[in-house]
Amino acid sequence: MSDTQTPVLIGGSIAIDHIKTPVAEGKNLLGGSASFTGFAASYFTSPVHLVGIIGKDFPQEHLDLFASKGIATDGLERSEGDTFSWTGSYHENMNTRDTLAVAINVLEDWTPKVPAHAAASPIVVLANMHPLNQLQMIEQLTAEKPFIAADTMDLWITIANDDLHKVLQKIDLLVINESEAREFCETSNLIIAGQRLLEKGPRHVIIKLGEFGAILFSNEKHLTNPPLPGSHLPSLPGVALFRCAAFPLTEVADPTGAGDSFLGALAGHLASTGKTEFSFDDLRRAIAYGSVVASFTCEAFSANRLAHLTRADIESRLNLLKNLTHWP
Ligand code: AMP
Repeated sequence: MSDTQTPVLIGGSIAIDHIKTPVAEGKNLLGGSASFTGFAASYFTSPVHLVGIIGKDFPQEHLDLFASKGIATDGLERSEGDTFSWTGSYHENMNTRDTLAVAINVLEDWTPKVPAHAAASPIVVLANMHPLNQLQMIEQLTAEKPFIAADTMDLWITIANDDLHKVLQKIDLLVINESEAREFCETSNLIIAGQRLLEKGPRHVIIKLGEFGAILFSNEKHLTNPPLPGSHLPSLPGVALFRCAAFPLTEVADPTGAGDSFLGALAGHLASTGKTEFSFDDLRRAIAYGSVVASFTCEAFSANRLAHLTRADIESRLNLLKNLTHWP
């Protein structure tokens, strides 16, 4: 199913979600940032190591689904409490949503524990979780120079800003939503936000634009190969830019986990190259895979589409995206 044997370590939330969209509702769904990230990565590389915590209520069928995708769950702590739960409701445009309820439950006093064999993974994804948990995971890594990608959210920008800044000093790539980037950098200009995020530490920043795709900002002094001529703005010296479209969908059932799937496919693709230092082109390709895999996630509730793909499904959509977005 996957291209390579480069391990990817993924930490984040494992959740039970309750989701409402303008047309349908789903209760007790498998969710969580690490779950979606793990499924997406599993199409590109193996092993995928999950680190997270679940409660006594977590259904065995979800663990079986992880196992069926070859995802290693020995880094999932089992607690006597209840699994973290999130309830969200989407607006008419499906691009914005409200959090209706959060039950922190087992995440409350959680300290991630990375199994020794997983700690040596050369590619690490810190999916959305408290920045303190992201720092605790970083402390346990043993690979010489792992490539670390992290996600975050508006909540942590508000309540854990200092810890989030510490995370940014230790990671290679930050992936963030456009509204969060604007809030974090106190500017309505996304290009300025990308530049400011690079100044906070990571060598690459991706701002996700939902149904409109994503923008990559790379600090040129960290690129292994010079980027393509023409990938700079005169007003932004030293920063290489790439703009990727989203795969166009005619029906969106539930966008929950699209961002996590984007990150998982991106990291999985990077792992599949067998490298740990990436060129600008590696990142451009990885973003295209991220966009394509995220589009599948949106087509059904929970991971109901994401967890049942083939590599051929992904490659055929990747080719379509390429045709739809380049010109002679
Ligand atoms: P996304 O749609 O990519 O932003 O990811 C949505 C997933 O993030 C859902 O499955 C939620 O369970 C999970 N989630 C929501 N809030 C939090 C939080 N505060 N910490 C960790 N995970 C969360």
